[in-house]
Amino acid sequence: MSSKLTSYSEIVRTIRVRACPVCDSAEQISEGQAIWPAGWRCASCGESVPIVDGVPSYALAVANTLTGFDPSAFDELVEHEAGHYWFEPRNSLLLGLANKIFPSADHYLEIGCGTGFVLDRFAGARRWSSVTGSELHPAGLKHARVRLGDRAAFVQMDARRIPARDAFDLVGAYDVLEHVEDDRAVISAVHSALAPGGGFIASVPQHPFLWSAADDLGHHIRRYCRGELESRLVSAGFEIVTSTSFATVIMPLMIASRLGRRKARMEDLIRREFALPSVLNTALKAVLSVEVAATLSFGLPWPFGGSRVVVARKGEQRAPRSSSTADASPSPREIGDNLDDPILLNDVEREMKRKPDQTRRNIVSDAHIAANTAKLSPGR
Ligand SMILES: [Zn+2]
Repeated sequence: MSSKLTSYSEIVRTIRVRACPVCDSAEQISEGQAIWPAGWRCASCGESVPIVDGVPSYALAVANTLTGFDPSAFDELVEHEAGHYWFEPRNSLLLGLANKIFPSADHYLEIGCGTGFVLDRFAGARRWSSVTGSELHPAGLKHARVRLGDRAAFVQMDARRIPARDAFDLVGAYDVLEHVEDDRAVISAVHSALAPGGGFIASVPQHPFLWSAADDLGHHIRRYCRGELESRLVSAGFEIVTSTSFATVIMPLMIASRLGRRKARMEDLIRREFALPSVLNTALKAVLSVEVAATLSFGLPWPFGGSRVVVARKGEQRAPRSSSTADASPSPREIGDNLDDPILLNDVEREMKRKPDQTRRNIVSDAHIAANTAKLSPGR
């Protein structure tokens, strides 16, 4: 009897579902059908989802707000991503991990796709049944739609409330979680939106002691301690497949530049972040590309670096989710103890005690210069 019930629930779980943003009633997504079709209306409550510039828009109330991101930065970003020493190798790493670990993933969602720079690489890399780019800010989607055309579907939504369940085989969030106060809500929503066995690839800026004006510019809420993201994923029911750092080989340069930047003007900072001399850009890109190749070829779990990239998998059977993930989660320190060398952990703890507030005070007088150029920093 109980085995029959189990297999029945297994069958129910594999049905891909879109959810009404108002009444949460579920509706099956048929194969070949758009996940969030334009002009959709809930059969239960009659709610319809508005279309703005051709994009189903689930969270217009918070669109283009300055919370966690400055949408005006997309115009700047789109100019600089192609060929950039940091964005290009990061693309190779993310796509390499997806191809290696989830080669048969079929329905793909990117959260916070911005201008579509990563989505473009993913969409062109293999034959997907569906590719969807989601973004809170229509200002980013404007660029993404031009870049990808009909090779992807787009949706405007709040990633803390993804209106779908068991709908995707792979979800990516690349330098997005650090912009969200309640990152646990996003992780939990991704878990629900994934089919059993589905994958989640997330990259975040790492090491609080690397906090700099670039993080303020980028509206970052945090840089993650080592083990912190893994801990939150496990609390939400994910198992960790692999975890590594990115931008390890240039970390000495990052530290040196941060020491040198204490008194730098914000506009100089911005110039240095993006308008690198082309020789330097080429050199850094080559170095990071070698690092990425080593990560993908030998599975090197770089212990430290500007970013942390974690690959997680949703269990085949739904893991019990605690009502309060905050209480149930192991501390970063507990997980970090398994992953880390003690020297680096001490550094992190020291920086956590100092808190980024001090850094913020140091640069507050320059903040106005940056008002319209936030998020110029590649999230590191
Ligand atoms: Zn409804």
